[in-house]
Amino acid sequence: MMNSERLSYDFMVQAIEVAPIGTVFIDSEGSIIKINPAACVMLGYEAEECLHHPYYDWIYPEDVNKDKDRMEKLMSGKTASLQLEKRLIHKQGDIRWVSCMLSTARSREGRTLGYVAHFTDITDMKKAAYQEEERLIQSDKLSMAGQLAAGIAHEIRNPMTSIKGFVQLIRSGAGRKDQYFDIISSEIERIELIVSELLFLAKPQSVKFERADIRQLLDQVITLLNTQAIIHNVEIITDFGEPEANVEGDVNHLKQVFINFIKNAVESMPGGGELTIRLERSDDHVAIHFTDNGCGIPEAILSRLGEPFFTTKEKGNGLGFMISKKMIEDHKGQVHVSSKLHEGTTIKVILPLSII
Ligand code: ADP
Ligand code: MG
Repeated sequence: MMNSERLSYDFMVQAIEVAPIGTVFIDSEGSIIKINPAACVMLGYEAEECLHHPYYDWIYPEDVNKDKDRMEKLMSGKTASLQLEKRLIHKQGDIRWVSCMLSTARSREGRTLGYVAHFTDITDMKKAAYQEEERLIQSDKLSMAGQLAAGIAHEIRNPMTSIKGFVQLIRSGAGRKDQYFDIISSEIERIELIVSELLFLAKPQSVKFERADIRQLLDQVITLLNTQAIIHNVEIITDFGEPEANVEGDVNHLKQVFINFIKNAVESMPGGGELTIRLERSDDHVAIHFTDNGCGIPEAILSRLGEPFFTTKEKGNGLGFMISKKMIEDHKGQVHVSSKLHEGTTIKVILPLSII
């Protein structure tokens, strides 16, 4: 090697050693032949512990399979480099997300020597994105509980008024006490039901899948929203049919979704109208149609539905539809919208029926 060549070779080695980017050389068999300190930090291992071990040993198993096709293209020489996001398994067992660039290393004659992998740690970025998504879901839940509060106050006030009335009657000694007590206890039960529904929805809970009858969930949600609908001159008509419509799902999330769609429908009919909720069953699916005769959605807006923060309302947050769609997709379901301007909108939610 000439002197200047030797010098630039030393520089190159040095550059890899001090680079803030993890760098790993892999031979054509997939074993590590060189690993720099930045990569050692990401993995939590000493360089000696990694040498001659398969590179895949440190990749999260699911991610190895995920990129198989693309890796094969690289190996066969069809592509020269690959950009991937992968999870590495740290020595302590925790998972680090990395953005990884893999390229083929060739000799001067063009022979494949192996591969070079460059990593940057993107774990913090991934975590932040995940937390932001969680935060959005939580904040929407809270504001929804807030928005519901007004309607629920009415819902509770009605039975309270009747309880008060009957207590006065009992005091005055008029009429038959036992009958009054029956009415009072049934009114108290109704308040309990409403309050427990509200608490259930406001409490952040982890996702829990269980078997649930869609008809029952809809009934419970309508209990919460009916007074608000009536105040807005909206009649909720239900056509659930027989038999049960059982799905596997997170009851809390499904209720959130139904509340969102019912609220949107009610808000689309400022002058009052009808909201029909109809169930349609097939062998393995149930379709829930929320049909309003409200303002409808113009075509230009239809395509933007589901964008976060897209709202046409002064006090809207533009999150309801997006979150609802995501929650339904988490249940292996679909959401379809059909709408005619000034005539109304139908939101169709399709969910797989429980097979158990
Ligand atoms: P928000 O209700 O806070 O505006 P959403 O994500 O629930 O946010 O809805 C986004 C937008 O979609 C609404 O602002 C409205 O323009 C439109 N939209 C949703 N549902 C309906 C409906 N049933 N009828 C008319 N427009 C609707
Ligand atoms: Mg909404």
